[in-house]
Amino acid sequence: MSDPRRLIPGTDSVLAEPRIAAAVRTLGRPLVKAAVAEAQRRARTGEIAPEDVVDAAVGHLPERASGLRPVINATGVLVHTNLGRAPLSHAARDAVTAAAGCTDVEFDLAEGRRARRGRGALAALAEAVPDAGAVHVVNNNAAALLLCALVMAPGLEIVISRGELVEIGDGFRIPELLASTGARLREVGTTNRTHVRDYAEAIGPDTAFLLKVHASNFHISGFTAAADVAELAALGPPVVVDIGSGLLAPHPLLPREPDAATTLRAGAALVTASGDKLLGGPQAGLLLGEAELVERLRRHPAARALRVDKLTLAALEATLRGPEPPVRAALAADETALRERATRLAERLRAEGVPAQVLRTEAAVGGGGAPGVTLPSAAVGLPARYGPLLRAGAVPVIGRLERGRCLLDLRTIGVEEERSVLEAVLAVHGDDHRSERPCR
Ligand SMILES: *Cc1c(COP(=O)(O)O)cnc(C)c1O
Repeated sequence: MSDPRRLIPGTDSVLAEPRIAAAVRTLGRPLVKAAVAEAQRRARTGEIAPEDVVDAAVGHLPERASGLRPVINATGVLVHTNLGRAPLSHAARDAVTAAAGCTDVEFDLAEGRRARRGRGALAALAEAVPDAGAVHVVNNNAAALLLCALVMAPGLEIVISRGELVEIGDGFRIPELLASTGARLREVGTTNRTHVRDYAEAIGPDTAFLLKVHASNFHISGFTAAADVAELAALGPPVVVDIGSGLLAPHPLLPREPDAATTLRAGAALVTASGDKLLGGPQAGLLLGEAELVERLRRHPAARALRVDKLTLAALEATLRGPEPPVRAALAADETALRERATRLAERLRAEGVPAQVLRTEAAVGGGGAPGVTLPSAAVGLPARYGPLLRAGAVPVIGRLERGRCLLDLRTIGVEEERSVLEAVLAVHGDDHRSERPCR
């Protein structure tokens, strides 16, 4: 008797198969070999036939060399940190692809010599906020704050309200971030109320700057008081304001969300913000403010460690100059239009036998922006069991569980994503039906 395992094709012969060889060129050898090994393992256990090893290996190939997969955000949370925050606009994605190879990020093509790194993105940011004397871009808002403390407050004090000692997520806290530079935090006021006089009394020879941090992920109400930027600016020391979400100008739907232009006009020496929240761009830390101060930040040795790469610069410039990014479109979407889209989607699903309803919902900005603000929206409601099944699909669709149902909120589903959502739900429905049939 021959050993059936001897019929299992060897690695080299599988790798020579045209489909597998093509995959080696796109995915690289190690990933393809892992898929082949998995298929061979299944053949050895008798789970598949030896002649099916090539097909099985093809089935085990990952789609791309990175494990990060595109997903559809149907949560109704516009800026979802777990889902990569702001999705880039098509213009920004295109800019990233164009800059991915060698690019003139730091080179003047006309003169043939070195040029200022990221000048296009910096110019776009400066033009978007004319109130800023100068601008700089670092890795993220946390890096922007770190750089401020390193440059302005070594061995000195940063005066901050006890109501603004914020934990930003994953256990990271702004006061600890600042203190890690060796600066001392001088806490003033109380959790709910801090007055201008609290700051005034704390100012002394060791004061480096006054810091205001926007309460972007929580909301306190009731008996509260906070000093505004103009009042603090009158006290003397520079005022640095972390506005969080990256609005460059006031937004009519978010009247309580601070913006860079207004904050600078109120007298802030420096404003810091994220690029991937309400601005709708790539992860980045924006620094806008007095020219001399920004130049000092730019020249600090640590600035090099916090600098952004060419892909970020490309995406940021395209976000600032190009068409409205998805987050901004989602924010501005009209409730009636969302309801119509939900109705059409639910009707098409019901026509295929899916128990889909249209529900009125409340979407949220999320991701450290406009806490407590809800945006009227519409969702397609499905049985709760669809939630995990949709996440497991070829294009994972991430809904939210509410009222015992899996909701797919149209405010965060792009119009161009609707077809994929429809197909994903129908695929789950099809599987559902097959599995409901009694086993024989
Ligand atoms: C989000 C946020 C941060 C952190 O920004 P990153 O860009 O994620 O580093 C800091 N401060 C405030 C007020 C925020 O909202």
